[in-house]
Amino acid sequence: MNDMDGRRFRVHSDEVTKATHEALERRGVSVRDIAEIVYEMQVPYNDGLTMKHCIESVESVLKKREVQHALLVGIEMDELAEKGQLSRPLQQIVDSDEGLFGVDEMLGLGAVLTYGSIAVTTFGHLDKNKVGIINRLDTKTGEGVHTFLDDLVASVTACASSRIAHRTRDLEEEGKTYEDVSPEEVAPESHIDGAET
Ligand code: MG
Repeated sequence: MNDMDGRRFRVHSDEVTKATHEALERRGVSVRDIAEIVYEMQVPYNDGLTMKHCIESVESVLKKREVQHALLVGIEMDELAEKGQLSRPLQQIVDSDEGLFGVDEMLGLGAVLTYGSIAVTTFGHLDKNKVGIINRLDTKTGEGVHTFLDDLVASVTACASSRIAHRTRDLEEEGKTYEDVSPEEVAPESHIDGAET
C-alpha cells in the first residue's frame, strides 16, 4: 500500500511488539513459561542466576523483529488451521502436524540464527527433548493446533539461553557471577555480532 507520495506504509515497531505479546498470550504462552525452561537449562552453569535474569532475557529476545515476525507468521498459521481456513492440502498437513512437514522447524531455526551457534544447537536439543511449555504445546498429545508454536517457543527459549551463556563468559572474564548482575541491567546483545534489535 502506498501513501500520496508513493512511499510504502510501514508498520511501527511498537505495533509489531504488541501484536507478538498478544499472540503469545492468546495461545496460552507466558514469558514466565519460557523463562522457566531457560532457568532450568542455565542454572547448573551459572552461580547466582535467578528467574528474574531469565525473564529479562526472554523479554529482550521478544523485542527482536526477526523473532517477532516468525512468531506472528507461525501463530497465524496455527490459528487458521484451527479454524479450518487453510486450503487443501496444507490444511490437513498443518492440522495433523505431519511428520515430514519441516517448515515449522525451519521458521523456528531461522529466528535463532542471529544468536549464534549455541542458539542453533540448543534449538536442536529442545526440538528433540520437548520440556515444560514446549511439551504441553505438542499437538500430538494436547488440544488445538500448535504445529508452529512449539518450534517457535523452542526458538525463543534457545535465543534467551544463548544470551545468558554469552553473558556468562563476559562475567567470568570480569571475575563476576550473576549474583553481581541486576536483572534490569542492559542486555548484552552488544557483545554478539548482528544481534542488535
Ligand atoms: Mg512443530
